Amino acid sequence: MAQPKYLTGDSAAINEFIDRFDVFLLDCDGVLWSGDHLFEGIVETLELLRSRGKRVVFVTNNSTKSRQDYQKKLTALGIPSDIEEIFASAYSSAVYISRILKLPEGKNKVFVIGESGIETELRTENIPFVGGTDPALRRDITPEDYGKIADGSMLDPEVGVVLAGLDFHINYLKLSLGFQYLQRGAKFLATNLDSTLPNSHSFFPGAGSISIPLVYMSGQQPLSLGKPSQAMMDAIEGKFQLDRARTCMVGDRLNTDIQFGVEGGLGGTLAVLTGVSKKEHWEAKDAPAVPAYYVDKLSDLRGARL
Ligand code: PLP
Ligand code: CA
Repeated sequence: MAQPKYLTGDSAAINEFIDRFDVFLLDCDGVLWSGDHLFEGIVETLELLRSRGKRVVFVTNNSTKSRQDYQKKLTALGIPSDIEEIFASAYSSAVYISRILKLPEGKNKVFVIGESGIETELRTENIPFVGGTDPALRRDITPEDYGKIADGSMLDPEVGVVLAGLDFHINYLKLSLGFQYLQRGAKFLATNLDSTLPNSHSFFPGAGSISIPLVYMSGQQPLSLGKPSQAMMDAIEGKFQLDRARTCMVGDRLNTDIQFGVEGGLGGTLAVLTGVSKKEHWEAKDAPAVPAYYVDKLSDLRGARL
């Protein structure tokens, strides 16, 4: 397989790279920042891309935040943005449910396993939901619950979708309800399927590890609305009318970001080494995807020859 082109320090190659694209899809965590720490030179790098007429879209798998939450974060870190430039997996899921699934009246509620970012996006799309951050579900299952779940009296008959994202309060009760809805024919969606979630300490369970118990129980696979799912790419393409050949996906993770760009047939993919994946990961035989380009860090693009 062709090895990626290393751009750091090669101003002519950086220049040529930037010229090849009109749109840059930017993964956030691991590319722009790590947690709450903005990487050096990111504001200037985004300014450089914008000053050269490029469109940027912030594409993140983090389902715990709404687009408004993300815009607040970008603003707090000094990155100017338009809310329409933000494409997060909670938003992607809500848009998919309202514009593509088009659930029938009477079966149009979503059972949410996840945090408030998902709830905000569902509300914005006028999608009714149950579960989510409801404090009534943040408890142990009781002997009475088993009967009420089985006879349906604890279930909302209007639920037509189970949507699973990262839920910091996942428990046996929520999994039992989710499983029951799936058995009764609800569609199974996931905001994203990241196995793990890196932070400054270590790796922790990601959203995919929350939905996997439901996969195991039900034998069904969810449709993911996050990277690398092409359902998310189709939604981005529809919204931004982008020319895939002139679009580049930038990311730090091979099995989400780079795979997303490669499978989406984008004109290019750029890996940065400030996050999860390292050079040896794409040099490995079983690499999920190989980027077309790589830099040590995104701000190396400032080395473009003007
Ligand atoms: N999911 C959660 C809950 C997160 O907090 C993060 C990163 O902050 C991610 C996924 C990965 O986000 P990204 O796609 O921006 O790397
Ligand atoms: Ca990332």
